[in-house]
Amino acid sequence: MVKKPTLIAFDLDFTLWPFAVDMSAYVAPPFSKNMNGQVVDTRSRKIKHFKEVPSILKRLHHEGYILAIASRTGDPEAARQLLKLFNWEKYFTYIEIYRGSKITHFKRFKSESGIDFSEMLLFDDEHRNKRDLDTIGVMMIMVIGGVTHKLVTEGLDKFSNSYEQK
Ligand SMILES: [Mg+2]
Repeated sequence: MVKKPTLIAFDLDFTLWPFAVDMSAYVAPPFSKNMNGQVVDTRSRKIKHFKEVPSILKRLHHEGYILAIASRTGDPEAARQLLKLFNWEKYFTYIEIYRGSKITHFKRFKSESGIDFSEMLLFDDEHRNKRDLDTIGVMMIMVIGGVTHKLVTEGLDKFSNSYEQK
């Protein structure tokens, strides 16, 4: 039997988009849409997300997963603004964006949803988050170079296989 997670969470920086939203070396918020409908920052630079993200969110939402954001950025406002401008807000049931260990973010998901840690899966690019989440039993898939359909499929397989071993 294929065991699936109930809730799938994503990090933001270097997972859904290729920059840190709170670092001026990358971007200068606030963001807006220009006349061509492109998302830009105050330097009029185009703000891009990793290519496959919109279709990944659409796919997982369609497949019935509960989707969430867990981000430790120091600029939650800018992050939320991008979620809105990219039109991704509609996919996420839970959004937790603030500094500190991601254990806090996941405890929030658990208390709000009633879903157990063992039913959650996270895609994230930072090892320190994996170390933290290991301690509460949330599986994390390491992201390198942005999330892709291939990685999502591999992550879901890994989640299912971990259950078979139990
Ligand atoms: Mg990150």
